[in-house]
Amino acid sequence: MKKIYLHGAKDQIARHNTIRDINKQIVLNYVRARSPISRAEIARETSLQRSTVSAIVDDLTLEGMIEEIGTGDSTGGRKPTLLKLRSGTPAVIGVDVTPRETTIVLADLTGSIMQSEVFPTSPDLGFMNEQILAKVTQFADQNADANLEVGISIPGIADQETGRMVYIPYFQWADWDIGQRITAATGLPVIVDNDANAVALAELWFGPEEIRRTRNFIMVMIAEGIGTGIIVDGQVYRGEGGAAGEFGHMFVGENAPVSCSCGRRDCWEAHASEKAIIQRYGSSNGHGAATIDIDRFIGLARNGERQATRVLNETARYIGIGISNLIIGFSPQTIVISGSIVKAWDLISEEINELARRSIRHELDSAKIVPSALGDNPTILGSISLVLSRKFASAN
Ligand SMILES: [Zn+2]
Repeated sequence: MKKIYLHGAKDQIARHNTIRDINKQIVLNYVRARSPISRAEIARETSLQRSTVSAIVDDLTLEGMIEEIGTGDSTGGRKPTLLKLRSGTPAVIGVDVTPRETTIVLADLTGSIMQSEVFPTSPDLGFMNEQILAKVTQFADQNADANLEVGISIPGIADQETGRMVYIPYFQWADWDIGQRITAATGLPVIVDNDANAVALAELWFGPEEIRRTRNFIMVMIAEGIGTGIIVDGQVYRGEGGAAGEFGHMFVGENAPVSCSCGRRDCWEAHASEKAIIQRYGSSNGHGAATIDIDRFIGLARNGERQATRVLNETARYIGIGISNLIIGFSPQTIVISGSIVKAWDLISEEINELARRSIRHELDSAKIVPSALGDNPTILGSISLVLSRKFASAN
């Protein structure tokens, strides 16, 4: 049962001010999860009155959240009209900042991307502000009558409560105010979050049904660095100031092949990220810093190239060590691994699972460890999910 904390209860009441709003949220989420669905089916499944469901459906239709899609089979009498989420109408501007490139997309309520702009991420904040503002403003102006919100995913710490982007280690940006700049220029609401939290949300939103139904899981994103997003009881656990989930910096052993983004050489990220793989491979071939990229490296490992295979196995062991620590601490149902490394899943899963199994106490089941099915750009979906999860959680 959900605990009600008396301190701050006012906020909770204000956020969910009437039974009608809660019912509206339930109906909207039924349409999202079960479409195509009729008013009668929603009434049956929710035990809400038919007339209540119809009134809510009218509201949601007027607000542009849902639409009718023809008729279903009749069970006697008039054929029911089926409902689904409204698609093809812009609802979200997603801004995905990664160390390499920044992508700005326009998406509808179903998360389908309608337009996309990409440019290389620059350490020059002035340039970043200019580019992002220009593109977001362009999308906003072209869709002036749409009910748009902006979601921003960053490779750093963001405080969702205050909208502050506290710190982005890769570029050493502190207190980046792009969210406020966007709102000032366009009037649109902006929501910001750490990329790993955003991707965890995307797993909950767009992942396979098995993940969408999981209440407790941890998403481990292995890229330039390592980020983790923690889902507890179907919600992102963000911690005080949005700083939870920084497991990329947990100690897993000394003398890593590269420095972590925090400068240390004993963090998980320094042992198990893409940059650790590339550096290991470079040193093993006597090239020092290698010029190979992760996809080419995985290709070599897949072809059985000896050094690549050795480096992949060594990295899989470090990935497994970190994951076994997460399992010991959280006992999640599932660990989802995201990033290019999952293209080599068949080559690394055995090692990772073996380490995870070793860490589990005998009487407990180990967590399931699965590769992400979100494809090549999970952080773009993450930026979209930030907005969708808010729209669907507060349909009032
Ligand atoms: Zn670190």
